[in-house]
Formats: sequence, structure tokens, C-alpha cells
Amino acid sequence: MMGTKASRIWHPFTQHALQGVMTRIVHGDGAYLHTEDGRRIIDAISSWWVVTHGHCHPDITSAIREQAGKLNQIIFAGYTHDPAEECAAELLKVAPPGLDYVFFSDSGSTSVEVALKMALGYWKNKGCPRTRIVVMQNSYHGDTIGTMSVGARGVFNAAYTPLLFDVASVPFPARGREQATLDALEVTCRNDHPAAFIVEPLVLGAGGMLMYPAWVLREMKRICEASDVLFIADEVMTGWGRTGTLFACEQAKIVPDIGCYSKGLTGGALPLATTLCRADIFDAHYSTDRSRTFFHSSSYTANPIACAAAKANLHLWRNPDTRKRVTSLAAMQEQAVESFRADPRFENVRRTGTIAALDLKTSEAGYLANIGPKLQTFFNDRNLLLRPLGNTIYVMPPYCVTAADLDEVYIAIRDAADALA
Ligand code: PMP
Repeated sequence: MMGTKASRIWHPFTQHALQGVMTRIVHGDGAYLHTEDGRRIIDAISSWWVVTHGHCHPDITSAIREQAGKLNQIIFAGYTHDPAEECAAELLKVAPPGLDYVFFSDSGSTSVEVALKMALGYWKNKGCPRTRIVVMQNSYHGDTIGTMSVGARGVFNAAYTPLLFDVASVPFPARGREQATLDALEVTCRNDHPAAFIVEPLVLGAGGMLMYPAWVLREMKRICEASDVLFIADEVMTGWGRTGTLFACEQAKIVPDIGCYSKGLTGGALPLATTLCRADIFDAHYSTDRSRTFFHSSSYTANPIACAAAKANLHLWRNPDTRKRVTSLAAMQEQAVESFRADPRFENVRRTGTIAALDLKTSEAGYLANIGPKLQTFFNDRNLLLRPLGNTIYVMPPYCVTAADLDEVYIAIRDAADALA
């Protein structure tokens, strides 16, 4: 049996009419997923980029078990608990210096919503309200109305366009056209007096694994600083070693005013997110005037079990072996993609840290093209979890993946080009 008939569950980003069957996973360990029919699948995209240390890492699993027996959940308005306090303290030790406060939430999208609300609240509380946001074209920041507003517009959000708020945008800094992005940002910052600029540092993920260099990121920060525009780094995908350093901003030697961190925060074990900010952004909201409260919460804010998982993740990052694994995966990825650079069936072969991506040359480009699902099915039949973005195939495995597993992935990518290009 290849899979399970779809139930009444409405799955995300899934074309149900075409899918027919779902692959049912019963167990995960390390870089592998095991299906109910006994197949072992290599998780080459870390289950939507979250499972950094591998599935069911024993340290994270035991931290969850221990916390689940102590305290499951507690309202976080006016109450606190050790897992949150310790997690926040550990996070601030490794976060870009100058980020002083931690706000907890439960998904990448929410961490971005919180960042936008912090930025707008900051200007309002300072007595000079600003609401305009500058974004980078092709970006993805989530699927809520707010995060779709600051993300790329297209088929994903066509039904909601009238409800999305208006933003200013700058083009993606494609190679050779970086200055155009910087010039556009400078002009917008000067003329529009925006509240903030939000950007995915170094790699635009869902927008196509588009990569740009650290010097551009540094320049963008400089421009925002010069114009007194808040700089929001959405490190939801790029955080936790993905780009080779713990956070992508480190490579540009910049500290964002507000930073969003989720996905690998719990090593992929439980949903949790944080938005970090500078002390003066917190201070602007911190007052005896009750109207200056930061009006954001969710029922599960700083869930103790999720915080315990995050703490275990942070401990893993203290171990030099974790960073060594990131470095060696980055090297393995570079070696793997190198041979594709001369392969005429592919273009835009690229890598940043542990993320590698390449575009299959095809007449079927674009998100709605059939090549994406065809490739995914091809890979699934080869017992690989890869989920191309149209004709863009990317590989972003857990850091424990072996060289042999990675070979298998890239052999399948070559075979897919033979079969489908
Ligand atoms: N920002 C970025 C850069 C992302 O890649 C994602 C998720 N792919 C999000 C925000 C939204 O995160 P979540 O799916 O956890 O809401």
C-alpha cells in the first residue's frame, strides 16, 4: 500500500483533488521518516525546515517528557515559569547583542505579526505614529492577513487581496542589480518615513530560495539606520544554523532592531516562536499608562513544554559538535551542488550554508506549473521527502544527515532531470 486515503482533514498547501492519497508517517528518527507500509524516507527538507537536529532527538524528547509531568500550561499574563525564564535567558546569550527582550508566540507567522505590531506600537507610543512597512519583493513571511500583506502577492493570496494592507516594496537584489535595491530602499526610507523594513536575511525561502550576499544585508541595515526606520529581520527560516552561522545577520555583522525566530527554536519538536527587540522598543510600551500595554497574546504564549524543548535545543547549540555538523553539512552540500553547475539541464545552482537550491530548466516554470507536483511524486517514489517550489529543487536536511543519504538525494535529482526535464 502506497499511502492512506485522504480523510476529512483539510491539509495546508495541498491540492486535494490531485493528491488522492496521503503518505502516512508513523515514526521519525534522525533524518528518517518511516511510513505505515514500512518505507524509510529521507527527510531532505527537515519537514518544512524545522527539524534541525533530526526527528525525535533524545535530549529534546526527554526535556519534553520531564516538563510534561511538571507543568503543562499556565496563563502568561502576570505569571511566569522556569522554562520560559531559562529559555529567554539562554536565547539572549546567543542572539545578536543589543536585542534585549523576548516576546513568545507559537508560529513563525505570529512572530512576524508581533514584530509588525511592536514596530507600529513603538512609533505610536513615541508620539509620532508611522504605519507604512517596506518589504522586499518575492518575500514570504506567513499566511495570516498581516504577514501576507508584507509578503509577495500572487495566486496564494489572490482571494484576500482587498483585505491586505498596502506596503512599499523594493526589488530582490539579484546579482548585478544589488544597487537598484539599495537605491530604492534609500528613496523609500527618505520619502515615505516608513515604520519599518522587513526582510529575510540572505535567503528568501518560500519565494524561491533566492540568495543574496551579506554586504547587501549590511547596506540595507545602514540605510534604515540612517533614516531612522526600524529593521526587522525575519530569521524564521534562516535561523538556527541554516545559513552556516547560528543566525544569518551575524554574517553581515548587523543587529536587527527586531528579530523573528521560530522553526528550529525547538529543534522542530513543538510549535514555538520568539520576537526579540531592542530595549527602547520595549520601553516605549512599558509605562504606567495602561493604553501603552503591548496588546498581543495567545492562549499558549510561552507554553512550558515548548519552552523546555527550546531550552534543550539551546543546550545542543552550546555543544561544539552541533556547529561542526553545520560546517560539515555546508561543505557536503557545496560538494554536491558543484557538479550541477556545469549540468546544462539546471541553472541558478546556489548554496548558502546548509541550504542548496537549483532550478530545473523546463518550459513549465512558475508555481502553478505541473513540474512541481511531478517532481515531488518522483522523489516520493524514491523514498525522499523533497518538495520543490515549482521548478526550484532545494535540499535542506537535518544536520545529522549522512553523506550517503545526501548522495542518494542528489542522484535522484539527476535522475529526475533525465525523467522529467
Ligand atoms: N517567515 C519565514 C521566512 C518563513 O519561511 C515562514 C515559514 N515557511 C514563516 C515566516 C511562517 O512561519 P510559520 O509557518 O511557522 O507560521
